Amino acid sequence: MHSMSSSSRPRSLSGIQPTAESFHLGNYFGAIRQWVRLQDDHDAFYFIADLHALTVQPEPATLRTRIHRSAAQLLAAGVDPERSALFCQSHVPEHTQLAWVFNCLTGFGEAGRMTQFKDKSAKAGADKASVGLFTYPILQAADILLYDPHHVPVGEDQRQHLELSRNLAQRFNHHYGETFRQPEAYILEGTAKIVDLQEPTAKMSKSASAPNGIVDLLDDPKRAAKKIRSAVTDSGDEIRYDPETKPGISGLLSLYATIEQTSVDAVVAQFEGQQYGHLKVALADLVADLVGSFGERTRSYLDDPAELDRILARGAARAREVAGPVVADVYDKVGLVRGA
Ligand code: ATP
Ligand code: MG
Repeated sequence: MHSMSSSSRPRSLSGIQPTAESFHLGNYFGAIRQWVRLQDDHDAFYFIADLHALTVQPEPATLRTRIHRSAAQLLAAGVDPERSALFCQSHVPEHTQLAWVFNCLTGFGEAGRMTQFKDKSAKAGADKASVGLFTYPILQAADILLYDPHHVPVGEDQRQHLELSRNLAQRFNHHYGETFRQPEAYILEGTAKIVDLQEPTAKMSKSASAPNGIVDLLDDPKRAAKKIRSAVTDSGDEIRYDPETKPGISGLLSLYATIEQTSVDAVVAQFEGQQYGHLKVALADLVADLVGSFGERTRSYLDDPAELDRILARGAARAREVAGPVVADVYDKVGLVRGA
């Protein structure tokens, strides 16, 4: 929609928070694998959501380390800095500049209906949850709309936030004239919610999962395999896909299908007549291979932090070429006057 689009390829945009030492299987299969694929035929903008991570008040030294680890993991996963702008959110001040405008267009009640805020603030305790955590989806709307993306590859848990972004785009356009595209969530069935291994009705989460509920991409392969083998399963012993009555075994079946890039039906057929243990051992092997090679690739990127910084700087420069004119246009449209 913005006339400054320099390429005819559609755009893809997404972000991930540096809220842990490692990303997990849910982040990879729910989001990052799609980021990598979309690079082939999209102009891609991918960022480390360091400002979002501040909403939960990390220790400064911890946050710094996690930002570098995030960059290394995204590269290890296949984000290609030659084809995608890979950057830190905080290096592109336009994100917070646009967020303020959207803060002023969002209703208090509307923001209060975000289920992720309700969950996370309930966990933190009402007095401890920050205002930043409350307004996070509004900053996220700015993150997205700045780049005029066609597709936003995310997990199912982000669907409501995406809807807010779409509403804000529409509201802004209505008040100030056609400016923003309403982006489509790009959520793949089957990988949209990778479940917690110990609590298979909840999603795997960096900040909420217990250590045994989550397989980190940087886990030691043996430890990762053990977590899979000790995943909670359901009563009975028949291997059958039924998320309602058999959430544990269904989660494992769907993870197996995801890794093997096949259908759940094919996996069920493969294990027909076998016991839970057989599926677990086979899946544990697949996961151990995956994290083993992922860890090696990540460590090689972490060996050269100066190169990581150079990649992030180049990505930020590319992002600012797009984001700068958008903020100028928006500030103009809402009636701010240009400074000297
Ligand atoms: P946090 O607990 O700090 O919010 P997170 O694990 O939810 O961390 P985010 O950085 O918030 O990870 O999200 C990054 C991306 O990963 C988003 O697109 C999100 O939808 C996706 N994602 C997160 N968890 C899962 C999951 N269990 N299954 C599928 N996708 C997921
Ligand atoms: Mg999250």
